[in-house]
Amino acid sequence: MPETINDIAVFRTCREMSEYAERLRDRGASIGLVPTMGALHAGHLSLVDHSLQQTDHTIVTLFVNPTQFAAGEDLDRYPRPFEQDMQLLGERKVHAVFAPVDAEMYPPGWSTRVQPPAIARNLEGEFRPEHFGGVATIVLKLLNITRADYAFFGQKDYQQGAVIQQMVVDLNVPATIQICPIVREPDGLALSSRNVYLSPDEREIALSLNQTLKSVRKQIEQGETDAHALMSEMRQMLIDGGVSSIDYAVVADPVTLTIADEITRPVVALVAAQVGSTRLIDNDLIQ
Ligand code: AMP
Repeated sequence: MPETINDIAVFRTCREMSEYAERLRDRGASIGLVPTMGALHAGHLSLVDHSLQQTDHTIVTLFVNPTQFAAGEDLDRYPRPFEQDMQLLGERKVHAVFAPVDAEMYPPGWSTRVQPPAIARNLEGEFRPEHFGGVATIVLKLLNITRADYAFFGQKDYQQGAVIQQMVVDLNVPATIQICPIVREPDGLALSSRNVYLSPDEREIALSLNQTLKSVRKQIEQGETDAHALMSEMRQMLIDGGVSSIDYAVVADPVTLTIADEITRPVVALVAAQVGSTRLIDNDLIQ
């Protein structure tokens, strides 16, 4: 019998998680997977709601995946409020949680990694070169362990969604990937587990990411087609807003993520900036 917390079956080992998933499949139940690093907020819970609505059985994973962090990033200080997360998932009536320790996912001798698709190379890939390899590897492992039919990701991590979608096609993974809308605070800040790092002043500065995206949308809707003019304005708005540095502020093709020249088709505007010591990302898909 698995450990139960707040009426949720909690699994700590790959073997027990797999055996449980196998039993569900034998019964003909569809399985929805929601991979998270915990520190849950309403953005994560929206993915959980999508899964609960669309599948028979929802498995949420709580795992701060070390292979997607580079040395010097925030792996050690990343929040891990396990009891609070279990409380939120209990209120949602999630069926199962997979919360392994690092050595369970990466035991001694582990050495195979997914080489992420070409779409992983620019933007986040340029500033976090190891990141998507780590993400693709853990997501593939979680899909295999949980036998998921559906997996739910947020548009908040736009490029991550594109990488995972390409990976399941390229590696013939029998799961359907669903990308769910970005959940925001009333003032527009995209919810992120990293927002807890922000001081009140930094919280104000962080708003400039979404304000920049809103301005891009407005200008495109008013007929602006010069992507380079827009991108210089985006940088200026972020600087004026007080960010410490900008990794990228671009308008790109929503499928290939190549930087746009002239805007004649739908685009995605994407920003990544440092606010104090916190790196934040946001995006807007402009149809
Ligand atoms: P994380 O725990 O940060 O790895 O995120 C787990 C999942 O939640 C990813 O698929 C994210 O894209 C998604 N997510 C994070 N923030 C939001 C948000 N504000 N709105 C919607 N989905 C989100």
